[in-house]
Amino acid sequence: MLAESGGRAVERVLNEVEQATDEIVDFAADLVRVPTVNPPGEAYEACARLLGDRLRTCGFTVRDLVPEDRVEHSSRYPRVNVLGRRAGDANGPVVHLNGHLDVVPPGEGWTCDPFGGIVRDGRLYGRGSSDMKAGLAAAVYAAEALRRADIPLVGGIEISGTVDEESGGHAGVAWLAEQGHLSAAQTDYVIIPEPFGPDRICVGHRGVYWFDLVTTGHTAHGSMPFLGVNAIDHMTTVLEAVRTRLAPRLALRTTALPVVPTLARQATLNLNSITGGQTGPGAQTPCVPDRCVATFDRRFLPEESFDAVKVEIEQLLAELSEEHPGLRCALRDRMLVHPLRTPSDSPLVQALSASVETLTGSVTLVASPGTYDHKHVARVAGIEHCVAYGPGALEQAHQPDEWCGIDDIKQATQVLALTLLVLVGAGS
Ligand SMILES: [Zn+2]
Repeated sequence: MLAESGGRAVERVLNEVEQATDEIVDFAADLVRVPTVNPPGEAYEACARLLGDRLRTCGFTVRDLVPEDRVEHSSRYPRVNVLGRRAGDANGPVVHLNGHLDVVPPGEGWTCDPFGGIVRDGRLYGRGSSDMKAGLAAAVYAAEALRRADIPLVGGIEISGTVDEESGGHAGVAWLAEQGHLSAAQTDYVIIPEPFGPDRICVGHRGVYWFDLVTTGHTAHGSMPFLGVNAIDHMTTVLEAVRTRLAPRLALRTTALPVVPTLARQATLNLNSITGGQTGPGAQTPCVPDRCVATFDRRFLPEESFDAVKVEIEQLLAELSEEHPGLRCALRDRMLVHPLRTPSDSPLVQALSASVETLTGSVTLVASPGTYDHKHVARVAGIEHCVAYGPGALEQAHQPDEWCGIDDIKQATQVLALTLLVLVGAGS
């Protein structure tokens, strides 16, 4: 609990954020103006420099961490992660705030410059404004508010900006964790300021299983299809079975994990892509296709085991090969991420929840429909106390005319500052 002197500390810290609101928004806008589009991973160096310089100004010791051993890193598209540390005066807990530097390509449908960093009508517009450059700015200024309020630290604060979250985070957070720059030995709590909004804390996500179904046939001249076995024809049989037999079963399963939107509390399956035959611009296609590949995105629930998820697909394929002699379909793994849930008694969840409630009047624990860097923090770095909390709206992520509310930015920064005060500030 906050002591009486802590009460004044709270006021001072919240006031520092209030005073700095324009500065925070300006910094977020500056970050938006660096077009860190991934793929391919543009301008990481410039963005890491911008963040690193600001962290230095705010009293952090800063290192650039370049994953030179990763295939993603190249001289054309260098991957540059940045990590700042501020040590405390005592051996208290260490809180790490991590945000990704990359944004997805702007896509079509913008009515403003996606990299203009335009502030208008109480909103910051631009690609990455919600996802998640406002979050990075909030992280920096939450820590800075404690410094400006002269709050001594009994624990440490770390802030990192990392690459490639939008493409899996392997050269970013995963690499940092593999190299020991982020580990349970030195870091107690991790907050990822992804855009869940000022009153929602994300405590986990469903599991992901990407897989291919591959049908194989026998090629022949397209004028004599009876001499071949058409792999795409067989794929249509498989797809129909997936749609009418497997998908309805999944829709009946729901999780106790508070996933938002609520429809994502079901187990789901999406057909992400399909390729077969001779494709590409101007391709002549005089052949019976002998191979067709469909890639699926299965989101599974903590209540489902991965083994059961896979067996269910294999059983369907076994049924089909019995019903359709000659149908050959194989299952091939692509990617697996197990579901995650932050322990509900986590001191991080408790401190953050109390701060959210103080600032917004209510708090909702949610889980993400998709995965994010939490998985690397938990599984590679071994830090179980990890949540996502930050300004902006999930619905804005990856959309044209993406924006983040200025009020959101201020409020989320205040919540983060208050949480830092409770977890690593002296006199609280
Ligand atoms: Zn994001």
